[in-house]
Amino acid sequence: MSFGRAIILKTAALKPVERLVRRSFLFRGVVKRFIAGDTLAEAMISAEEVAERGLKVSLDFLGESTTKRDEAEQACAMYRQIVEAIAASPHRDAINISIKLTQCGLDIDPSWAEDNYRQVLWQAAGSNTFVRVDMEASDYTERTITMIERVFADFKNTGTVLQSYLKRSLDDTRRMIKLGARVRVVKGAYLEPESLTVGDKEATDRQYIEMAKILMAEGNYPAIATHDEKIILALKSWVNENGIEKERFEWQMLYGIRRDLQDSLHAEGYNVRVYIPFGDSWYPYFTRRLAERPANMWFILKALFRK
Ligand SMILES: Cc1cc2nc3c(=O)[nH]c(=O)nc-3n(C[C@H](O)[C@H](O)[C@H](O)COP(=O)(O)OP(=O)(O)OC[C@H]3O[C@@H](n4cnc5c(N)ncnc54)[C@H](O)[C@@H]3O)c2cc1C
Repeated sequence: MSFGRAIILKTAALKPVERLVRRSFLFRGVVKRFIAGDTLAEAMISAEEVAERGLKVSLDFLGESTTKRDEAEQACAMYRQIVEAIAASPHRDAINISIKLTQCGLDIDPSWAEDNYRQVLWQAAGSNTFVRVDMEASDYTERTITMIERVFADFKNTGTVLQSYLKRSLDDTRRMIKLGARVRVVKGAYLEPESLTVGDKEATDRQYIEMAKILMAEGNYPAIATHDEKIILALKSWVNENGIEKERFEWQMLYGIRRDLQDSLHAEGYNVRVYIPFGDSWYPYFTRRLAERPANMWFILKALFRK
């Protein structure tokens, strides 16, 4: 991870900084760029707009690292409401859901969290909705993967995410291919100890391409989630050279980022899915987005100085 990115993530984790960002109206415009709104109704409006453009959607109810049982229960109740809203949508086939195991209570009681996750899957299976488990910081990687391995025996409508910055991810790619579960490949958004990572951006990008190729050749409908045009171009050529059909995978991008690229890939006949987050617990998600592109931070600093 770059020095600038690590500094932004560390600074953003300080409580006074969080209070400033949450209270200041200066951040609202930037927050709105990345987050569809506070409510499910607002998120569904955005989801249907995206679906009207011919793209697919994954809805994410923001929240993570839950330490209270009632909060985890509320989050899982919201997941089930999302599944109901998707089932009632005219675009139901284009929309699925992304969830976090720490939001289901993984830090409180792992087997209770698994029950919560299974209940969401059970309801989603009724309307053929796919449930993706987002990957969180490396403390959770093994627990997430082993839980998916257990649960997949009963529910095929689930899969997870693997991060190319982690050394272990090539092995995990093989594990998920063996299982038959769908994988979203990402670079990784958390501050991780160097001992666990493959190294700098170049090494992360190299492993990203390697994982994406393995998944596109052997995996179950992988999601190639990135806004990195160089990687997208390289993978598009590889796909053409190797006769991989466009229906075998999808590109994924985040709401508010590279809409031009989302639309141009769709126009070329690829499947493209937009990840749409909503809810009032937006702070950790928002800071990860700022850290990914220091230019986002400059935008805010300029606004502060102009005041
Ligand atoms: C659909 C989706 C789901 C994800 N799920 C997870 C997950 O479960 N776990 C996890 O750890 N990470 C997740 N991520 C985040 C991911 O790990 C990266 O942090 C993020 O995608 C940025 O990396 P990049 O591949 O776009 O490449 P980068 O090298 O970071 O960026 C390439 C280019 O994309 C553009 N760009 C990237 N980020 C931004 C931004 N925030 N604002 C403006 N422009 C930007 C810039 O032009 C940049 O030069 C997800 C990403 C996507 C797209």
